[in-house]
Amino acid sequence: MTVEKTSIDTLVIGAGQAGIAMSEHLSNLDVPHLVLERSRVAEAWRSGRWDSLVANGPVWHDRFPGLEFDGMQPDDFAGKEQVADYFVRYAEKFKAPIRTGVEVQKVTRNADRPGFTVQTSQGVFEANRVVAATGPFQKPVIPPIAPTLSGINQLHSADYRNPEQLPQGAVLVVGAGSSGVQIADELQRAGRQVYLSVGAHDRPPRSYRNRDFCWWLGVLGEWDAPASKPGKEHVTIAVSGARGGHTVDFRALAKLGITLVGLTDSFDGNVVKFKADLAQNLAAGDQNYLSLLDAADAYIARNGLDLPLEPQARVFLPEPDCVAHPLLELDLAAAGVTSIIWATGYAVDYSWLQVNAFDANGKPQHQRGVSSEPGVYFLGLPWLLRRGSTFIWGVWHDAKIIADHIATQRKYLAYRDAGQRKHGSEA
Ligand SMILES: Cc1cc2nc3c(=O)[nH]c(=O)nc-3n(C[C@H](O)[C@H](O)[C@H](O)COP(=O)(O)OP(=O)(O)OC[C@H]3O[C@@H](n4cnc5c(N)ncnc54)[C@H](O)[C@@H]3O)c2cc1C
Repeated sequence: MTVEKTSIDTLVIGAGQAGIAMSEHLSNLDVPHLVLERSRVAEAWRSGRWDSLVANGPVWHDRFPGLEFDGMQPDDFAGKEQVADYFVRYAEKFKAPIRTGVEVQKVTRNADRPGFTVQTSQGVFEANRVVAATGPFQKPVIPPIAPTLSGINQLHSADYRNPEQLPQGAVLVVGAGSSGVQIADELQRAGRQVYLSVGAHDRPPRSYRNRDFCWWLGVLGEWDAPASKPGKEHVTIAVSGARGGHTVDFRALAKLGITLVGLTDSFDGNVVKFKADLAQNLAAGDQNYLSLLDAADAYIARNGLDLPLEPQARVFLPEPDCVAHPLLELDLAAAGVTSIIWATGYAVDYSWLQVNAFDANGKPQHQRGVSSEPGVYFLGLPWLLRRGSTFIWGVWHDAKIIADHIATQRKYLAYRDAGQRKHGSEA
């Protein structure tokens, strides 16, 4: 049997926002390319998010420059399906060459000729270049401390859909980034008793002095920050666009009835132990919140902007009892906890990319997305080029830079010296 091979200059793997942005920029630069997607366009926004999820940023911000969201006001927050529909429409707008239902299984560098051999569920491709746009959040991570308890329903936030999915009873939500706080809030509002385990986090104000935090991060240059600040590498960001958008306020969550606890430390049978760091984690989050207000005030003063004062933004609710007297351990059975939701983040999985683009720990090795394996590129990873690299607007700008690198390399390779040009014209 002969295996049909398809040859293409540049193969983009993944048709989420990263792959679509890449395809647009490659199209603009006339780079022949194809996007392979194992599922549907923007699949992660359809099946990898809980039912009520809305984007963290308003639609004037969380979009690509060339297209607005249909029928929405700039300050609205798009639901997950609206985001997915947006990307489908965007890809159609410039006729992105996307093949869906094709899983890339293995990429290897050719030994005896330039380029790569790409094995897929639909045959073999030959490509000069490969862009891995398979997402920053591929594999849900549950820490090894997770107990093997029978009778407790444990799931990752990636598999959470809605409160009805969980058995009756109280819920422990581990992790208080954007996913953890929003899921805890939703469960509490649905009448569940919720324990929320809060580690280190940043919590920007949803808005301040009539400007959304996305705007503040933009004008203050924070989205473009090239690397996380030392000590902040593992700090998650707690922000929410739910119910029209609001500041994540842990004191308000406690007032609603959520029991805040410190970092989840270990399990001993049915008893879970928490670190005594709750007040400290909240104080660091407050500090982050206040530092953004200070930076915003300074920016307004420096630029003479006419934006209304908002002194009440600096007034905090009183310290809740669960912070003043934190639980250091909880007997899950006695507390009626029947579910644990691990909102503990994700890892990447590049087992299919068998090239020299990883360091000894298996971490992608790259400079601004250009990997250590010539011809292989990464896109959409956290801090790839900047803080905004995993976000909708940020990945579009990163893709432009990588597409430009590809076009430039193609120009070098297209160069012919005088002899070759003469030869070529005689031929
Ligand atoms: C809960 C949650 C909420 C978020 N909310 C926001 C938000 O409000 N605003 C914002 O800007 N960002 C948000 N993000 C961050 C980011 O925008 C999303 O994670 C986004 O999905 C990343 O886009 P991507 O294209 O890089 O990756 P993905 O959307 O994950 O796309 C990668 C694609 O690659 C495909 N793929 C993977 N492996 C293969 C393979 N081997 N072969 C073929 N195809 C493959 C997948 O099927 C997928 O479609 C959120 C993230 C999460 C987890």
